[in-house]
Amino acid sequence: MIFRNPAGAPELACNECGCRWFDRMTNRCYECGAAVSEQDVAEFEAALRRFTEARDASRSATRT
Ligand SMILES: [Zn+2]
Repeated sequence: MIFRNPAGAPELACNECGCRWFDRMTNRCYECGAAVSEQDVAEFEAALRRFTEARDASRSATRT
């Protein structure tokens, strides 16, 4: 599950309980212990990349 924070940045959240705390070593939710699939992680990283690129593009557009 991918959330958007108020700034519009994607945040990875647990599919089971919706919390955003993960053990990065094992890719498991701290709250309920559900595993985060590699697909979810890949989707999140792709969303984060798109967000970063869009943000950088709008920054360079307004800099002039
Ligand atoms: Zn959870």
